Amino acid sequence: MSLFMEYPAAERAWRNRAACKGADTALFFPPNGVRPRAALKMCASCEVAQQCREYAEAAPNLVGVFGGTTTRERSTPSVRARLKRSAEL
Ligand code: SF4
Repeated sequence: MSLFMEYPAAERAWRNRAACKGADTALFFPPNGVRPRAALKMCASCEVAQQCREYAEAAPNLVGVFGGTTTRERSTPSVRARLKRSAEL
């Protein structure tokens, strides 16, 4: 199962290269207060992390780990600004 199954195939091209393809999706949706270390580790080695993060940032209601960020991180303005700067380098 994929984190991105509900999206049209045409929009999933980069997702076929996801490091999390076939992984346990529960890792990406931890209970409140639990740091999703295994998911973040997977994202750190993912070749499409930038695309994934941009995808998540464009969908502010999306919850879970995407592109190496947690829901909370994506909703924190200072973290968003830092991610934007690093993407521009
Ligand atoms: S960055 Fe993380 S959530 Fe996104 S595709 Fe890669 S492994 Fe999956």
